[in-house]
Amino acid sequence: MSLSTVSSLPAFDPSPLSSRPTHVASLAAELAERHRRRALYDFDDHPLLERQRQRESNARTYPRRLPLALSRAQGVYVEDVLGRVFIDCLAGAGTLALGHNHPAVIEVLESTLRSGLPLHALDFTTPVKDRFMQDVLGVLPVSVARHARIQFCGPTGADAVEAALKLVKTATGRGTVLAFQGAYHGMTHGALTLMGNLGPKVALGSSLQGVQFLPYPYEYRCPFGLGGNAGIAASLAYIDNLLSDPESGVPKPAAIILEAIQGEGGMIPAPPAWLKGLRGLATRHDIPLILDEVQSGFGRTGRMFAFEHAGIEPDVLVLSKALGGGLPMSVVVYHERFDTWRPGAHAGTFRGNQLAMAAGSATISVLRAERLDAAAAELGARLQLQLAALGKELACIGEVRGRGLMIGVELVDAAAMPDALGARPAHSDLAARVQRECLRRGLIVELGGRHGSVVRFLPPLIITAAQIDEVARLFGQALAASCQ
Ligand code: PLP
Repeated sequence: MSLSTVSSLPAFDPSPLSSRPTHVASLAAELAERHRRRALYDFDDHPLLERQRQRESNARTYPRRLPLALSRAQGVYVEDVLGRVFIDCLAGAGTLALGHNHPAVIEVLESTLRSGLPLHALDFTTPVKDRFMQDVLGVLPVSVARHARIQFCGPTGADAVEAALKLVKTATGRGTVLAFQGAYHGMTHGALTLMGNLGPKVALGSSLQGVQFLPYPYEYRCPFGLGGNAGIAASLAYIDNLLSDPESGVPKPAAIILEAIQGEGGMIPAPPAWLKGLRGLATRHDIPLILDEVQSGFGRTGRMFAFEHAGIEPDVLVLSKALGGGLPMSVVVYHERFDTWRPGAHAGTFRGNQLAMAAGSATISVLRAERLDAAAAELGARLQLQLAALGKELACIGEVRGRGLMIGVELVDAAAMPDALGARPAHSDLAARVQRECLRRGLIVELGGRHGSVVRFLPPLIITAAQIDEVARLFGQALAASCQ
């Protein structure tokens, strides 16, 4: 890339945007109406996208498959700079529980800004932070909240995962961790491994080595080739044996970390019986259980937290995404018995984002007042029903699964022979085509899972039944167009 190529691109003029109406109700109505009247979209290049390609790191992800330059958004709708309107089932990778620019969030952001509160507060307390902590504890089961400590972390989910690992390593004096195949816990690589100062590392035993992976109970492609209850029993027996056998070759770990429903891994819910069994094993072997609810937390799965479907409790809980109401924020909530950290054992400059705390509190208030967890359960079931009906007609749908509004459709090669459990090979090309055809029809969905073959639906929890039906209809059309 040469600088002359970059500067030869015409500059984008944002002025037409600022002259458009931004009043919430009128914007929502305008976007809904324009979405209703849209034609099939085509995706030619745009100077903003071209400049992004030239300037931004090759690691950029979403705009490769979703080539959009966004301008406005309201509720479930986003608009790009060409005036095309989409239903957003990506929603900031599951961050936007209340959708885009919810009035309660905008209002609290405006009033916090006007209040004179220091926006940058390190880990000093403020009335906003005090309220936020109460709100977070208020949505946890009472038995968890009663003994909880909160560690405010850097702004991303991965930051909180790192903090959780340091916490359990410090508390147990052990250096390894058990994680699961298909798990996603973020992209950082443990900056501590790069640190010259040995002081903060001593208590951890090791840096980021020592992760042992276990098979996740992925029912559709059971790692034990058994499926159903037999697969669950085999998985638990395998883990129990690994932890009990003095010659397993696996040291007693500092923690077991998992998602109760794997998100990026393909919207795979762990069966409640398996989660209960794992909780029992962790307790029996005296191993802290870390539940990563970065994506599944705050009502998304139809309960406030995904672990509640199994009636279990974590020792350590990792939270981010919806936690900050659309602004960056992450915390680790853990049982006080693990609070063996020395003062300053975990720190970070940006742990006091007051706007994110205010937006998080507003989000939790709306979630509770409008029972959006229950709404997610109902609307998710409605979407799954319609997707499953498509699956009855189309053999390229291998499985429809999920909890609440965390739903995946695994696309498979209909022409291939199924395996002994009835699963056909994943079809990543088809998934990419379907995603593209969805986009042409004004629907944003993301891909995930093995070989990127799972179409993921993570709409805002404020989506209506009519909008859910529209999502299913557009997906059905995209699928039909892609299978031709
Ligand atoms: N944990 C889970 C379960 C996630 O889904 C993600 C991100 O999608 C992360 C951790 C990492 O969060 P972040 O991307 O904010 O670092």
